[in-house]
Amino acid sequence: MSDAPTHLVREAIRRERAYRVPTQTGIAAKLDQNESPYSVLDAIKDAALQEVRETPWNRYPDDRPHRLVAAVAEQWGLAPEAVIVGHGSNEITHTLGLCFVDPGTPVVLPTPMFSLYASVMRMFEAEVTEVAPEADLTHSADAILAAATASGAALTVVTTPNNPTGQTIPHEDLKQLAAGVPGILVIDEAYHEFLTGPTALDVLAEHPNVLVMRTFSKAMGLAGLRVGTLVGHPDLIQEIEKSRLPFVVDRLAEAVALQVLARPELVAERVAESRAEHDRLADAVEAMPGCEVLRGKANFFLFRTPLAHAAVRETLAARGVNIRDVTGYPDLAPRDGTPGWLRVSIGTPEENDAFLASLESVIRDA
Ligand code: PMP
Repeated sequence: MSDAPTHLVREAIRRERAYRVPTQTGIAAKLDQNESPYSVLDAIKDAALQEVRETPWNRYPDDRPHRLVAAVAEQWGLAPEAVIVGHGSNEITHTLGLCFVDPGTPVVLPTPMFSLYASVMRMFEAEVTEVAPEADLTHSADAILAAATASGAALTVVTTPNNPTGQTIPHEDLKQLAAGVPGILVIDEAYHEFLTGPTALDVLAEHPNVLVMRTFSKAMGLAGLRVGTLVGHPDLIQEIEKSRLPFVVDRLAEAVALQVLARPELVAERVAESRAEHDRLADAVEAMPGCEVLRGKANFFLFRTPLAHAAVRETLAARGVNIRDVTGYPDLAPRDGTPGWLRVSIGTPEENDAFLASLESVIRDA
């Protein structure tokens, strides 16, 4: 058989590495993907399944999940024309590339940031300008603005709270960015439920060049069903809609998302527990000899120990506790004799106890 014509795949794709997460089984504490540690309530699963059971599975779902779009719009005080619901927000990052990026289009991305943005932008052949963080791993609005202005960025993406650092961009800075960038400002608010106070929607209300990306995968606990949103000015969203594939949200995902959206008190309860557990864990890790914690504003935080980061992650994994090695981000790699950062997501109290016990023993045995 002749060789497959791989050279016909666009070079910008061939240069990439596939985003792969190993399938995990037999884990005592899965603290590596910033998910909710809780599956949705059985009552919600039952209600959604009952509803979907009565629909024809041989028929396409709505071209857009109209009921979910309407419910999101109502809850967030937007017009339905201002809302896109997609197959997780990962999927919507492609839409950003499709709508705003030609080869050579200037795009500004602060680092470190959820790696998919840079990967998607490279695949659309954007001219990416990265903006390094300050020493405390926060981002300066002035530095982002300077990069966006100098490059004439069509797209500037910021995340607050940011993954993997857990740090936020102050509301005033978001407003400054929205007013100052030459193009579109995307604010990824995947973890917004963990914050109080004004949100990116308040920035959007005053700035029609703002797009806000959110997800049902984190505080809402639906990572397994894939639901994410992009909201913005209705005129902008309606243009973007033209690029969207039909039927990307299936009946089950829509039904469950509607149920979860209707019970904000459950999400708030879980968020409160997560915040309290975050502080308990951060205090405990900080008290371990030679350990340093960068407290986060979402459901995870960064820490480093006196030991090599890879050894710590591997030893914990051997005990069934999975955390994330984030040293692939150059800003978080070991430097000047300081070990690299590790990221732990907040789990159930039992998972968190398992994490603390294994970390304590790793440090004690070192
Ligand atoms: N944005 C950020 C900042 C994230 O951390 C993640 C998940 N790691 C996503 C988006 C992706 O979310 P989704 O599950 O909706 O694709």
